[in-house]
Amino acid sequence: MSRYLGPIDLSCPQPQDQRRRPLGYLSSAYTLRSQDFLSLATRREPFHKFLILFRVNFLTMLIKDVSVLQSGQLLESRDILIQENRIVKIDRDISAREEETINGRGKLAIPGLVNCHTHLAMTLLRGYADDMDLMPWLKEKIWPLEARLTPEDIYWGTKLGCLEQIRFGITCYNDMYYFMDETARATREMGLRAFLSGVVFDMRPELLNETEPFLRRWQGDELIHPTVGPHAVYTCSEETLLKAKELADRYNTLIHIHVSETREEVDGFNLTRGLSPIEYLDRLGIVNQRLIAVHGVWLTMKDAYLLAERKANMVDCTVSNLKLASGIAPLNYLLQAGVNVCLGTDGASSNNNLNLFEEMKVTAITQKNAYHTPAAFSADQIWRAATEGAYMAFKLNMGLKEGALADLALIDLRKPWLCPRSNLVSHLVYSMTGGVDTTIVNGRVLMKEGVIPGEEEILEKAQERFLHLVSS
Ligand SMILES: [Zn+2]
Repeated sequence: MSRYLGPIDLSCPQPQDQRRRPLGYLSSAYTLRSQDFLSLATRREPFHKFLILFRVNFLTMLIKDVSVLQSGQLLESRDILIQENRIVKIDRDISAREEETINGRGKLAIPGLVNCHTHLAMTLLRGYADDMDLMPWLKEKIWPLEARLTPEDIYWGTKLGCLEQIRFGITCYNDMYYFMDETARATREMGLRAFLSGVVFDMRPELLNETEPFLRRWQGDELIHPTVGPHAVYTCSEETLLKAKELADRYNTLIHIHVSETREEVDGFNLTRGLSPIEYLDRLGIVNQRLIAVHGVWLTMKDAYLLAERKANMVDCTVSNLKLASGIAPLNYLLQAGVNVCLGTDGASSNNNLNLFEEMKVTAITQKNAYHTPAAFSADQIWRAATEGAYMAFKLNMGLKEGALADLALIDLRKPWLCPRSNLVSHLVYSMTGGVDTTIVNGRVLMKEGVIPGEEEILEKAQERFLHLVSS
């Protein structure tokens, strides 16, 4: 069984390296954890390397004097103590023997955002084809280009997407695409958490056969959670969907699928089967807690109650749906029915960025207009969907609380658009412009004060891969 170890540097660190690399950054052997240590232990590395790793097994980080957004409530002047990959304490004036201190003065700590639906490597296709109807866009532009994608394109496209997500405070994402081992490898190197599914559809039967080996390779990984990704009910036969369900059941993982995205899809399904796509999936036993259904633009009230009853999750991608003129998801009655709603950006070729703050604002103002009242969809509701809704869908112990995963971002409040400090949840949903200041995932600093190590190379390689792709 091959297992990518990502950023782990097996060479002995040199004194010079220790000075250059701040603690907590990726690619430093000094940030290895017990789990990494166990991985290395199975690889028969020389004993002196174990000694170095053992000594530095724990990383303690202290964020000092920061404002904390905890379940929508603002706590001023707090310290956040992180040990290994967990938040262990949030209080005033914590003293600890920390290896790394981050000055949080003038900053707001928010829990990590989860991008609940994307196709990350499609960042390479950003701006390549816009302003077209969905089916001609897919058939004439996207699918022919995707047929030429190589594993190297996926690797650099994923790294580009990770860069962008780190800049927007996204600490975890849910993806469906091709060559997922490359996506997993690139994501692990970048340090993000991810739920990854190789896309499955009938036109390429080999994709279904690749699913189980992928599940086996990555099961139990600390950051990468392999899932099952049948593309949609109109691209997968009943047999394929049942096989996908069987795999998801057997590996106790999620099913990630596009559902009821366009009116054509739903009308066609009603005509041929007399059922909505959700009713059909329910007959196959797929609508349950492990379902991550995406789009849901053309859901019926009956669909909404079915999703709620089965405790299934619905990901809204308002910006992508508006850009492709697919319609507006009926979030009001989804929430009224009690469906867990969360937010995703979709791929960068239909959005065209991975900015969840923008997604929150557009979702809120679109829903207000759809229901003809500014009282619909408050900032609090949208913020909850973007955070707690996502944590529930992916069963993540996240949030700024003791015991939660140390996945968080710091926002510099000394910006004109965040001043005055009246209602910070409102600012995050309606006023946030630009990215965050610092991003931490699994107790590791991926970006500090706007600096992401290795960013330059990724931007260059992504440009190179794009030019190669469109000229090949
Ligand atoms: Zn999608």
